[in-house]
Amino acid sequence: MATKDELKKRICESVDRRRTQIEGIGDHIMANPELGFKEFETAKLVTETMEEFGFTTQTGLARTGVKVTLKGKKPGPTVALIGELDSLGVADHPMVNPETGAAHACGHNAQIAGLMGAMMAMVDARAAEELEGNVVFFAVPAEEYVEVGFRRDLVRAGELSLLGGKCELIKQGHFDDIDVAMMIHTHSDASMKKTGISSSSNGFVSKLIRFVGLAAHSGGAPHLGINALNAAQIAINAIHAQRETFKDSDAIRVHPIITKGGDIVNVVPAEVTMETYVRGRTTEAILDANAKVDRALRAGALAVGAKVEIETLPGYMPLANDATLVDMFERNSMELFGEDEFTKVGHRTGSTDMGDVTHLIPAIHPMMAGASGPGHSRDWHISDKEMGYLGPAKFLATMAVDLLCDAAAGAKAVIENHKPLMTKKEYLEFQEGVFRTEVYDGETGTAEVT
Ligand SMILES: [Zn+2]
Ligand SMILES: [Zn+2]
Repeated sequence: MATKDELKKRICESVDRRRTQIEGIGDHIMANPELGFKEFETAKLVTETMEEFGFTTQTGLARTGVKVTLKGKKPGPTVALIGELDSLGVADHPMVNPETGAAHACGHNAQIAGLMGAMMAMVDARAAEELEGNVVFFAVPAEEYVEVGFRRDLVRAGELSLLGGKCELIKQGHFDDIDVAMMIHTHSDASMKKTGISSSSNGFVSKLIRFVGLAAHSGGAPHLGINALNAAQIAINAIHAQRETFKDSDAIRVHPIITKGGDIVNVVPAEVTMETYVRGRTTEAILDANAKVDRALRAGALAVGAKVEIETLPGYMPLANDATLVDMFERNSMELFGEDEFTKVGHRTGSTDMGDVTHLIPAIHPMMAGASGPGHSRDWHISDKEMGYLGPAKFLATMAVDLLCDAAAGAKAVIENHKPLMTKKEYLEFQEGVFRTEVYDGETGTAEVT
């Protein structure tokens, strides 16, 4: 029997030995980005790598997810180590796929490299012999909540029920066998040290919006038209007019984009489409701000006598990192990087579907350095492969050791201390309850809701 420290040492040595292979995976995915729910090639690479290491894979989970289980010598809790398969879309990123617009500008390529490295090292180090419980290596789809119309259409076609990867995996039962979950997100934040974790982050609902006016000659007879672009403009200004009513402590973020502004320049715009998220720290704050956004959208239609269709879709739950796991992460950070390389930050205003997982089971979404350039921008890249790719591999695997060695005392303490924020049933009722379509007629001032 190896001690926990011996096993951790063997794992870290294996990651270092496999450096070329792990970095190769990270670089390959960086060069071959795929948007959410379409990560077919990335999932294939993950599947093949898992099979090379002797695992039987479950594939096609929520379209592209891949899952394997390393069974410990004795039964016990199941810990999931997670990596996200999808890229983002950043049009001017130097490594963008020009056909799909996909680009890795958030570091999910590094997550998969880290996940594969952790898996390789745990196999190499024969960790299973020391574990009381199981480790699930889980590559998951679609964390970036993009191409909302495409996903809404998948929901309409019955292929998905929810619009984010982990949300859909929860719905389909692929988290039912998991007791504790963690992942590591790369960061490029100069104010954060080598490792860091927030206490919480925003959740959100998303909206697809369509203003419908009436086409007419823009020069000859604009009085015969109804200008949908003017309706949208007034609506956006009306949304801005709500901002002074948002409490700072609610951390509301509303950031609409116009996805279609008209058809042709000498015709009064008859159709204008928009998308937005409504983000906030709590579900109450999100729903309150969302009602104000709906009011502002109606105001745009009312002002010019247009119609507005407002489709509200479930997004992600606010993130609630598990305190016991945060402490364990901090201790591991000190072991690997020394006393002064861990940053605890407060609330963050971005969102992740790891928030949904943290509502049901103890889970964490910490961050590690290795990237440079602002996230979601053209300048984002992995600048330090040792931190970016190898760091998460060592960290994920050594956290699993802390949780499941010594008769799984670590995992048992985490589970015991954790109070779920929702049951799975409550969670699904909440998320599925967000779906709402309203058609408001600005001419008659009446609305139809479905
Ligand atoms: Zn991102
Ligand atoms: Zn991300």
